[in-house]
Amino acid sequence: MAIKNAYLLDLLERTKQRNANEPEFIQAVTEVFSTLEPVIEQRQDLVDAGVLERIVEPERQIIFRVPWVDDKGVFHVNRGFRVQYNSAIGPYKGGIRLHPSVYLGIIKFLGFEQVFKNSLTTLPMGGAKGGSDFDPKGKSDGEIMRFCQSFMTELYRHIGADLDVPAGDIGTGAREIGYMFGQYKRIANEFVGVLTGKGLVYGGSLARKEATGYGLCYFTHEMLQANGMSFDGKTVLVSGSGNVAIYACEKATEYGAKVVAMSDSNGYVYDKDGIDLDVVKQIKEVERKRISEYVKYRKNAEYHEGCKGIWTIPCDIALPCATQNEIDGESAKILAKNGCKVVSEGANMPSTPEAIDTYFEAGMLYGPAKAANAGGVATSGLEMSQNSMRYSWSFEEVDAKLHDIMKSIFKACDEASKKYGMPGNYMAGANIAGFIKVAEAMKAHGNV
Ligand code: NDP
Repeated sequence: MAIKNAYLLDLLERTKQRNANEPEFIQAVTEVFSTLEPVIEQRQDLVDAGVLERIVEPERQIIFRVPWVDDKGVFHVNRGFRVQYNSAIGPYKGGIRLHPSVYLGIIKFLGFEQVFKNSLTTLPMGGAKGGSDFDPKGKSDGEIMRFCQSFMTELYRHIGADLDVPAGDIGTGAREIGYMFGQYKRIANEFVGVLTGKGLVYGGSLARKEATGYGLCYFTHEMLQANGMSFDGKTVLVSGSGNVAIYACEKATEYGAKVVAMSDSNGYVYDKDGIDLDVVKQIKEVERKRISEYVKYRKNAEYHEGCKGIWTIPCDIALPCATQNEIDGESAKILAKNGCKVVSEGANMPSTPEAIDTYFEAGMLYGPAKAANAGGVATSGLEMSQNSMRYSWSFEEVDAKLHDIMKSIFKACDEASKKYGMPGNYMAGANIAGFIKVAEAMKAHGNV
């Protein structure tokens, strides 16, 4: 969507100049601005309070050295980041990404998105993100532990249960959170809910592991129903085979869909009979191997090198659950041509601007990440509540709360899209609903 409002155009230009080497961050800001025009035109008070100038600038950006030693005794140095983006509505909250592609621009884009996403959850959480350019692939448990301990040895001074509560993201699962929590507890000498995604035996929440994938399907289910459709009998593509992808596949299958493909950063598998998720869990969660192994267990399945090819498989619903910009304009056109009617995002910003334009042109339903994948952070919020109460809810209780939250997120997106004259544009609805709450809080706090 093109931006016409002169104030937004000018601020976007200044934001581009100040962050010229961070294309992912600019992409995320441009997308949000492209939908805020009707709000800005009605709410001069928010412009006068400088809310937009402040919202594009993180409150605090921390960059630090992470030295560690590998199993052969060789020294390594990675770069650690924590961007505490916005604390207007609660303590900073957002995951830690461990991936070689990580640099400040990726963490800033993720932190910016997190602000609106956390606002949509209805829970009191500000937005943050962190990570490192460390590559966990192929590392031993000992190497992962030494890296995580070194990372936390610096990070611990910047976080706290009422200040900033990190969680998992790409490359940071239960194992990494465990090592980081252990090191925090040791240095800070306190046992508090300073991280979420913890193991169940030391303060983790039931259903946190499943939450982002399940939540994605709960949101998508609401969106489908509101438009006279359902998962039942539909053919679904799920990219990735990590935490989000696995539990999206599980819930979509429970809803009666047939997931026929999954992927990793090397390639994808196509199983026309429907993905056998037990096999994927065994390969990915237990053995930590590549998705190519899948065809050893399922003789009728095919493996193809390269991840983009997954979007050439005919489907009704696409659930991108791997990484940013994994669906470009070309892939989106192929999806539309093959009859795909719905794209709903488990990953953060998996669609390029050209892909999003294609979804709208083709009349597809589009569930944007900051609403559709908010179930993970919402359940992290529920983990924080349980930790504060020194109490834990059953799987069913957490799952029911997650389900309610995803319903209310869809409702908020739907209502905002209608109120501001863009019915059915859930991207605009998510941006507007998420923005207004944070903006009101920022205005109330004065110019801080
Ligand atoms: P995982 O590390 O568990 O899994 C990531 C998956 O995506 C892996 O299969 C990985 O393959 C694949 N992948 C990574 N990079 C690429 C790439 N360039 N091309 C193709 N595939 C790739 O991460 P999560 O499942 O936790 O996160 C996935 C996405 O969901 C991310 O965008 C994350 O920010 C988002 N998200 C996660 C939440 C959570 O609760 N975990 C919450 C909200 C959003 P490989 O193993 O080869 O790297």
